[in-house]
Amino acid sequence: MFSKVLVANRGEIALRVIRACHELGVKAVAVYSEADATAPHVREADEAVLIGPAPSSESYLKGDRIIEAAKRTGAEAIHPGYGFLSEREWFARAVRDAGLVFVGPPAEAIAATGSKTAARQLAIAAKVPVVPGTTEALRDAAEASAVAKQFGFPVLLKAAAGGGGKGMRVVREESELAPSLDAARREAKSSFGDDAVYVEKYVVGPRHVEIQVLGDSHGTMLSLGERECSVQRRHQKMIEEAPSVAVSPELRREMGEAAVRFATAAGYVNAGTCEFLLDAEGKFYFLEMNTRVQVEHPVTELVTGIDIVQWQLRVASGARLPFRQSDIAPDGWAIECRITSEDPANGFLPSTGRITHLRVPSGPGVRWDGGVETGSVVGLFYDPMLAKLIVHAETRDAAIARMHRALLELTIDGIESSRDFHLRVMEDGEFQRGEIEIQWLERRLPSLANVAPPAEGVRVAAIAAALIADSERHGRRTAAGPAPGTVPPAGRMPNATDGSVTTPGSGERWLDVARREALR
Ligand code: ADP
Repeated sequence: MFSKVLVANRGEIALRVIRACHELGVKAVAVYSEADATAPHVREADEAVLIGPAPSSESYLKGDRIIEAAKRTGAEAIHPGYGFLSEREWFARAVRDAGLVFVGPPAEAIAATGSKTAARQLAIAAKVPVVPGTTEALRDAAEASAVAKQFGFPVLLKAAAGGGGKGMRVVREESELAPSLDAARREAKSSFGDDAVYVEKYVVGPRHVEIQVLGDSHGTMLSLGERECSVQRRHQKMIEEAPSVAVSPELRREMGEAAVRFATAAGYVNAGTCEFLLDAEGKFYFLEMNTRVQVEHPVTELVTGIDIVQWQLRVASGARLPFRQSDIAPDGWAIECRITSEDPANGFLPSTGRITHLRVPSGPGVRWDGGVETGSVVGLFYDPMLAKLIVHAETRDAAIARMHRALLELTIDGIESSRDFHLRVMEDGEFQRGEIEIQWLERRLPSLANVAPPAEGVRVAAIAAALIADSERHGRRTAAGPAPGTVPPAGRMPNATDGSVTTPGSGERWLDVARREALR
């Protein structure tokens, strides 16, 4: 094992990697921008190196400075996390050329899978089903039109170099093709410096189901099972779970084998993810491979008991995977909510400012992978994800109830967050029944996001009303108030907003009622 590893990232994933290093007895070096001088990942690392000003193009994307920092501090390897430099072939190559280990796949495997069109060709060669469409960039609108007619509208234009949903356009009829192709090309050029765009059939109402793979450099490649990531807004995942309600043990085996075939064909080593669309008939289609650790890796860790980040480090240092495919099966259910600094009541507008108070949920089966704390300043330089709240329980129903309970324990004051939106998803009947697909959230957003969150005053009033009602019913007005967690035999709480009264349900505590009222 390495003795020192540099972590080329920030926020929750930098902390996640630092924790894995420390559990393995490895020293961790952080890098940071001027905006992150007091960030938790800098404090938790054993050493930290300032690499530049706040904009990531001046700091976290400066590969040469990061490699230099690794050499200067005596780190033997660089873990890139996700985003930033994690999927840049040139960076993986530069790290290797500098005599260091890149904790991820070989540069050649990144190259083989980096372009969506090249990945589609590789998938076809490995007998992995792909969405019908082209495997080369389109020459012009006439070619797009000819292809679209083969399998019918709607079609999806996609940037070959795409990522993060950029350069994608749904085209519903012939007349939209030419202008959409121009727009997709422009966006692809400005986002990725490459205007190659190809066309795929637009699959209506599929689920996004992905397979986590893990391979060592001795020829073992394993599937760690699926994650369901269908709850998406603008092609961006918001809630993920493992396993998926739509995947039987038989389908899990089939999809797992397809992912392993693809990864093997790509010469892949380390942790990676093959993304698929899964239609209502149980047919699956390869989308792309993400050649890095995913944001949503914890749900797989919780149901398999395999620490993916630790294994990334072990495999990169040359270790053999000690498990076999037959050892791996999901145990229980895990759900992750991405807690972002976005305001769901305002079209998910990014919210900035200082977090004046952060209360992190805890208790049985709750995991918080966060990158902020009370006092952190959230700006616009980086991704709005503040933390991931992850729960694990015996069944899906129990995991939903646990996530709901954990979200109620979460307080983030000072900025807006996606917390209340997640609470409403956990309360939603369709979500509870697992009736989700990739367009589900967009369809349901008006009812799930546009309920204005309560003003802080209303929330405080509701809690005060609950406490007053409780102490009045007990006939006492003591300074100490009621014992926390007591369940009054009967009682009614005046609602702070409309004067109606609410009674606790069975097993409910007054504080729950206050919270429920505050969320109305
Ligand atoms: P990116 O790399 O930009 O994230 P992906 O190919 O991974 O692009 O697709 C992102 C999301 O877009 C998928 O999770 C899915 O929701 C949707 N999507 C992609 N391809 C199709 C398709 N052919 N039909 C319908 N939806 C699609």
